[in-house]
Amino acid sequence: MKYNEVLQYLDEIIPNPKCELNYFNDYSLLIAIMLSAQTKDSRVNEVTKVLFDKYKTLEELKNANYSDLKDIIMPLGNYTKKAFNVIEIARRICDEFNGVVPIDREILETFPGIGRKTVNVFYVEYLNIPAMPVDTHVERVSKRLGLVKGNASVLEIEKVLSKNIKKEELGRRHMQLVLFGRYYCTSKKPLCDNCKLCDICKYK
Ligand code: SF4
Repeated sequence: MKYNEVLQYLDEIIPNPKCELNYFNDYSLLIAIMLSAQTKDSRVNEVTKVLFDKYKTLEELKNANYSDLKDIIMPLGNYTKKAFNVIEIARRICDEFNGVVPIDREILETFPGIGRKTVNVFYVEYLNIPAMPVDTHVERVSKRLGLVKGNASVLEIEKVLSKNIKKEELGRRHMQLVLFGRYYCTSKKPLCDNCKLCDICKYK
């Protein structure tokens, strides 16, 4: 019942959830997701515009000057690591996978900066493979609403949500939860006065 109520409300306030990262193909999305760790999508979009304008192919990216790349990525934080990751991801896709991002999870998770959540986002957004990426927004909202236990780990949250939401809806529901957490049920000062889920919410 609780899931129904939450999902119905999400449909009401976020009927057309869309990924807010800009991308133009498989590798540009994978890199954008990696860069989005601990920062805002809007900031990533500003950086990837500069990045992919300057380095137009995977070959150019893998041969990019590390110092130049760091300068471009600096606004995102953790830029020394992220710049290294960009070059290494481009190199591996180029040299080992013929320029195409592999879809095997076990392989993708060996790429630097790419973990389970990144692969899940790539799956739902680019490949339409059912998955439930759990980021900070999905975790916060799911716990506040009691969709999962308050002490659940990220992996446990992924499993519980995946069990309780129709497989074919997972991608859409993930994006609704992200956007709800980003714009309504924010970490500080959530918009509780206008939220119709107050009655089931555990947040005080
Ligand atoms: S009542 Fe407030 S904390 Fe609870 S789900 Fe709604 S916005 Fe989030």
